[in-house]
Amino acid sequence: MKIGVLSLQGDVIEHINHIRKLGHIGIEIKKVEDMNGINGIILPGGESTAIGKLLREIKMLIPLRDKILSGLPVWGTCAGMILLAKSIEGETDGHLKIMDIKVKRNAYGSQINSFKRNVIISEISSEPQPLVFIRGPVITETASDVKILCKVDDKIVAAKQNNMFVTAFHPELTDNLAVHKYFINMCN
Ligand code: GLN
Repeated sequence: MKIGVLSLQGDVIEHINHIRKLGHIGIEIKKVEDMNGINGIILPGGESTAIGKLLREIKMLIPLRDKILSGLPVWGTCAGMILLAKSIEGETDGHLKIMDIKVKRNAYGSQINSFKRNVIISEISSEPQPLVFIRGPVITETASDVKILCKVDDKIVAAKQNNMFVTAFHPELTDNLAVHKYFINMCN
């Protein structure tokens, strides 16, 4: 499997290392043509406003959107989730606007903007997953065909709709490979 990681800003190499540890090819995606021949794409954590701005600048927003709409599996982690969301609380416009979710940025406030939790996500594994949150968003609304995969403190932090998968947390910053394995299965 050849998995691309959008490489404009954010935690790229950590995702690539996890993909390689699972025996697959992980490549950086820096321009439209880099997407040729990939089986899936990861939109990493970072700063969604910065990544969105760069996507527009290099004229990749629409081609990426089209690829995902035509079925390319995508996993948005944290800022990547914000990029995919159809709407963002308190903001007038979004970025790719293709997943039927509404998100709230920096939803955990300034005091606990980073924290860890061990949670079982039954769709992914029967083992508890170490979830790392770094100024993460939460999902505040979902359409009826969005599958909620995980809640922490009653807040939705992972979901799936067709070929689109999002997590508010960062599995690439842990040693655990289960969530990457789950996404690679989605790409099969
Ligand atoms: N707070 C960031 C944003 O709003 C997301 C943080 C992250 O990706 N770790 O884009």
